[in-house]
Amino acid sequence: MERVYLDNNATTIVDPAVKDAMDPFFTRMYGNPNSLHSFGTELHPYMKIALDRLYSGINAGDEDDIIINSCASEGNNTVIKSVYFDSVLKSGKTQMITSSIEHPAVSKTYRFLEELGVEVLWLPVNKDGIIHPDTLRSAIDPDKTALVSIIWANNETGLINPVQEYGEICRENGVPLHLDGVQAIGKIPVDMKKVYADFMTFSAHKFHGPKGAGGLYVREGNHITPLLHGGEQMAGLRAGTVNTAFMVGMGYALELAVQNLEFEAVEVRRLRDKLEDAILEIEDVEIIGRRDIRTPNTILASFRGIEGEAFLWDLNQRGVAASTGSACASESLESNPTFVAMDIAAELAHTGMRFSLSRYTTEDEIDYAIDAVKKSVTRLRGISSTSNNEYI
Ligand code: PLP
Repeated sequence: MERVYLDNNATTIVDPAVKDAMDPFFTRMYGNPNSLHSFGTELHPYMKIALDRLYSGINAGDEDDIIINSCASEGNNTVIKSVYFDSVLKSGKTQMITSSIEHPAVSKTYRFLEELGVEVLWLPVNKDGIIHPDTLRSAIDPDKTALVSIIWANNETGLINPVQEYGEICRENGVPLHLDGVQAIGKIPVDMKKVYADFMTFSAHKFHGPKGAGGLYVREGNHITPLLHGGEQMAGLRAGTVNTAFMVGMGYALELAVQNLEFEAVEVRRLRDKLEDAILEIEDVEIIGRRDIRTPNTILASFRGIEGEAFLWDLNQRGVAASTGSACASESLESNPTFVAMDIAAELAHTGMRFSLSRYTTEDEIDYAIDAVKKSVTRLRGISSTSNNEYI
């Protein structure tokens, strides 16, 4: 075995069927869908199918909107800045609420708004690593709070937040709820009729679609001020020529991801648990977060006494790709927001390694990875106690 990819929370392989579905839109049907001639209009049925697939993939209502964009970072920026323009600047609501375990696409946007004078509340997690609904309930203020933004499933731990309860709390208080759904879609059911959120963001490349394609769900009745002004694409809510190939690919990828949810819940979980059980056989290891409230593909493990970066490098030498945390986080490991929020000691934080599987991960790959992890830990712990520098 040459290489094993266990970094699917960073990005995923494009499903070959998705690639095939996108192919005709590069060299055969390459028109601009806004053109009035046949090169443009011939695209419309394909775009309609893609949108239908996206609507049914997240069970959106007919009157809800899905704005096609370039990625979830764009979607998150759009929602947060739109509410800033509409509610904070215009209607005088002064406070926005988020959590301490957001992806930088949300946390850095809020840091930016803090610099502009917005009061941002950063909700802490409880001992399970999730934001308890009561924490939100006691922070929200119907007179002051303009928006609540919370991550659905955390990218580093896989821990799933109780978003249905957040929806109820926000609705009772008349405050819009924005969910970052990036790590939930394709791993657990995402049903916008069950979860009362006003906004929800996703990125196609996290569920075997192309990079550079994302979606922003907007519940009926909510207003969006565009981040990108220009043409009338997306009903004037997001300017820029529509990337038909990527839109088609994202729609199909979501349909396939939903079809594979049962497989995720059973087979991907089985392989994840196999890897996790094997990791737990190693001495001085801690797994972050309860298994039953994590996405079925994710493990965040702390290997005491092994420095994360050295471990990552050693695993990479053995052909195993894992991650020491969010590929987008620039913070040092000790200040990793998840560890900080969960009040996990700096030493544990420093030794964290994330393994994230997908429906493409095979049993052979997991067996190989188990062997590689054990050898790597033995070698690295050996180096710290002796000066043995040989691969074993
Ligand atoms: N939100 C979460 C939870 C993520 O995991 C990521 C990517 O890792 C993003 C947002 C940003 O997605 P993208 O890089 O596709 O914009």
